[in-house]
Amino acid sequence: MDILITEELATAAVEHLKKSHNVVCDGSLWKNVEKLKGLLAEARALMVRNQTLVTADLLAAAPKLIVVGRLGVGLDNIDVEAASKLGIVVVAPLDANAVSVAELTLGLILALARKIPLADRSTKAGGWDRKGCMGIELEGKTLAICGFGRIGRLVAARARAFGLRLLVFDPFVDQNASVLLETGAVWCPRLEAALADADFVTTHSPLTKATRHLFNARTFSAMKRGAFFINTSRGGVMDEAALLAALRSGHLSGAALDVQEVEPPQTKTGFETMDNVILLPHIGAATAEAQTRTFETVAADIDRLLRAEAAVNFVNFARPGR
Ligand code: NAD
Repeated sequence: MDILITEELATAAVEHLKKSHNVVCDGSLWKNVEKLKGLLAEARALMVRNQTLVTADLLAAAPKLIVVGRLGVGLDNIDVEAASKLGIVVVAPLDANAVSVAELTLGLILALARKIPLADRSTKAGGWDRKGCMGIELEGKTLAICGFGRIGRLVAARARAFGLRLLVFDPFVDQNASVLLETGAVWCPRLEAALADADFVTTHSPLTKATRHLFNARTFSAMKRGAFFINTSRGGVMDEAALLAALRSGHLSGAALDVQEVEPPQTKTGFETMDNVILLPHIGAATAEAQTRTFETVAADIDRLLRAEAAVNFVNFARPGR
């Protein structure tokens, strides 16, 4: 077997791979670790989305594996360090869906500011509630961006066109970085400094040990009263119970979440009954363009590696060490 695919993939994409490779595709494999381990004994390439947990244990069952292709950006479901130790290349299309996520983020900011989902629901239900749908303008308001990488920067460029003042918190961005000057964003040395002044807070950091529950009771309470919180990064970056409490107490005016701590949620979280919360099923990268770019980028690198060429979009090294 050349390529093992463990999650749902468009049929056309699988057929494309099958033209030149021996492919096994089972969209439910990620749920069955033992079966997955059995198949991994023969696989040279593994292709996953965000559901398959590519742990050191799983990789240990894959003696022939030379590449893990991640069809997406977040690497929190892949033990890259373990892959590196085994000489396995990890490839990910890091630029493929940034525009889609940034555009969705702006959509959510606008939807919160103008109560678009509420207005839509109530009008379809026969109402004409113009008073209940009173919103606010973006112009002159302040947006805090936590995590100023690919997506955070695209959000900044777009937000600027709406006349939003920009504050940035990112411990790995130099306060004199030219990208800050280009977007007119003000660098904040501490997260709380950005939160205290912002009408909207959007998070674009990866999920790491340091960012898990970065948004918690303390940081939510550091946000300005009446502010909005937008999360299109990872559910684990926020403490959902703390967010719920901040919304219920009226400290925050609303939230828009493309991601949740457990996806799909296995129990009711409390957000689903709140009119001031927008919930999406992790669709940041769900655009035709992003999906095509993602698949083509990962497939091209897997193809290169299977032909003993170097990968282009690697996150550890370009050629397998085994
Ligand atoms: P990126 O690596 O380009 O940028 C992440 C930024 O976060 C970096 O600048 C980094 O310095 C910063 N950062 C790291 N630790 C931080 C901390 N403790 N506090 C604040 N900032 C910190 O990544 P990106 O392409 O911009 O993507 C960001 C995240 O968005 C991804 O890790 C992924 O989890 C998420 N994402 C979600 C979707 C979706 O469908 N909703 C799609 C793509 C990516």
